[in-house]
Amino acid sequence: MLGKQGWRLFTNPNTLVARLFKARYYPNTSFAEAQLGSNPSYVWRSILAAQPAIRQGSRIQIEGGQQTTIGSAPWLPDMDNGFITSNLPASISSASVDSLMVPNQRRWDFDVVDDIFNTRDRDLIRRIPLCSRVDKDNWFWLPDSKRLFSVRGCYRMLDTMHPPPSSSAWRKLWLLPVPAKVKNFLWRAMTNVLPTGDNLLQRRVEVQASCPICHTSSESVFHVLVTCPFAKACWISSVLGFNGSCVSFVHWLEDMFSCRNIDDCSLSAMVCWGLWLNKNNKVWNDVKGRVQNVVNSAGQNLFLWQQARKSVLVPPNLDSAAHGSVRWLNPSIGWVKCNVDAAIDHSRGLISDFIAAKSDILPGSFEAREAEALGVKEALSWLKKFAFHFVILEMDSLQVFNA
Ligand SMILES: [Zn+2]
Repeated sequence: MLGKQGWRLFTNPNTLVARLFKARYYPNTSFAEAQLGSNPSYVWRSILAAQPAIRQGSRIQIEGGQQTTIGSAPWLPDMDNGFITSNLPASISSASVDSLMVPNQRRWDFDVVDDIFNTRDRDLIRRIPLCSRVDKDNWFWLPDSKRLFSVRGCYRMLDTMHPPPSSSAWRKLWLLPVPAKVKNFLWRAMTNVLPTGDNLLQRRVEVQASCPICHTSSESVFHVLVTCPFAKACWISSVLGFNGSCVSFVHWLEDMFSCRNIDDCSLSAMVCWGLWLNKNNKVWNDVKGRVQNVVNSAGQNLFLWQQARKSVLVPPNLDSAAHGSVRWLNPSIGWVKCNVDAAIDHSRGLISDFIAAKSDILPGSFEAREAEALGVKEALSWLKKFAFHFVILEMDSLQVFNA
């Protein structure tokens, strides 16, 4: 509902309420560029939540051009972005649009327009018709067929700007060779359910809304993991680089998944996880992290986890070989092979091992491998009497060369 208030602040900046908000929260800019600021009220936070949609859907129909500022109003006839994208000096940016027209004539001054705007802005300005009647510039809501703003239209615009992740992004996420906790973290980031400042405030939890690292913007998932100056420095110093062309975290991650290989995607997931831990460390322990630590830890943790996973995958094959799936083969000529096995009676605390033609009962409570090792020890001490040398030892099999 407060989206409508945002629309009023944007389109009627001279009302008393608009001037109060401007004096308090954005004295030097317009509503379109306003930030959350320090100690924002609940109402201001709620209004600002609709700001991206209002920026995206609002447009000005240029009539006289006196009321519209060149650099801070959406007056270009472009579906995606109605704002000027040229780099303009402050004096031109703050001037009104009618200063781009030939004085006393209802036509654009193409010499001026061509001189100060980039190609995109220049072409769009040339497409704006100017009627002979000088009238007040009018605001309208671009997505609506009748050009009227509505709360429903604002919600629709917000949905369009934050589409749910595609199924291919989910698939790629679940296939990433990273720890399960990191996949779970990314899943929560993609569905925007992480306990960031803005999400907690929406649920009426009284927390500091601004980012605890940079204190210059509200703490959203996208800000903490991508656009925060600290996060940006981490991405730049990593091999992945910084991608600043995205409008949401989902958009950013899908972009990463679609054009990077599996190693880069895994590393990006680990860097995101490291940035989140770093942010939590600042909130809970007041410890300010370092860029190199976050980046290096991400790479090292990924490497160690992948190495540990490889070593864990090997033992099942050894186990199966050690427990009878290997065929017995005759020893080579001059060698004696002793097979050792053990039976364990945990209830009585006894083990039984078999050495050549001998069976013994030994006191103790051991695991299978320890018991078999004791059997090997007994076999070695027995064979020693016959001066056997050059022992090759496996857990279930002992081969001794008779020198
Ligand atoms: Zn920040």
